[in-house]
Amino acid sequence: MAGVSLKNVVKRFGSIEVVHGASLEVEEGEFIVFVGPSGCGKSTLLRMIAGLEDISGGEIAIGGVAVNDVEPADRGIAMVFQSYALYPHMTVERNLSFGLRMNGNDKADTARRVAKAAQILRIEELLDRRPAQLSGGQRQRVAIGRAIVRDPQVFLFDEPLSNLDAELRVQMRVEIARLHAELGVTMIYVTHDQVEAMTLADRIVVLRAGRIEQIGKPLDLYDDPANQFVASFVGSPK
Ligand code: ADP
Ligand code: MG
Repeated sequence: MAGVSLKNVVKRFGSIEVVHGASLEVEEGEFIVFVGPSGCGKSTLLRMIAGLEDISGGEIAIGGVAVNDVEPADRGIAMVFQSYALYPHMTVERNLSFGLRMNGNDKADTARRVAKAAQILRIEELLDRRPAQLSGGQRQRVAIGRAIVRDPQVFLFDEPLSNLDAELRVQMRVEIARLHAELGVTMIYVTHDQVEAMTLADRIVVLRAGRIEQIGKPLDLYDDPANQFVASFVGSPK
């Protein structure tokens, strides 16, 4: 398990700065939710933590180790996206095991990890199917399973449920809360769904145009939003 530390993190694309010095200390095991309007930098922040984007300034540390020069595969993180990006020609079992086997993980350990992830996500019966034979909710479970088998210290979720219908979203939200309770690992989760943010988060980070506007516990933000902008993201009547 590991915390995540952002110190004055800056991101520029060419000459345009899109993240202007973000600082945040995520505790080990904490569930952090990023909210904010489209284009405010939520995905870019996650991608920098994951190592999928270089940072233009500042420092990111995971588990106390500066990772600016650490490859994505060695950061102990796993990321789940809104699009499932499953391999269509592979069974669920292969989708879950492929990354581990590519990394040279041995067969017995891979099988153990796949079985454990399948059990946690209740997809044991689906292991022989291909993605086309799965519902949207089942596909998203497999996508989360692919993160679990890597045994990451930190999970990053980028709007993982926004493609699902309302009923499934509620179901998967409960599953993600259970996953967090069960694994106890650090999670950073992007959503524009107010209910998801309020129910999942230990702390919510409200972003606005590449800056952190306010950080706080859901009820504290609700009761005492710094301004109207924050209020609108936590559903506060203020
Ligand atoms: P969010 O996830 O909050 O909707 P993003 O992190 O995707 O926002 O984007 C933040 C800003 O960075 C936006 O203005 C977006 O257009 C810009 N941006 C994101 N990725 C790139 C890229 N690869 N090249 C140029 N600009 C980008
Ligand atoms: Mg985004």
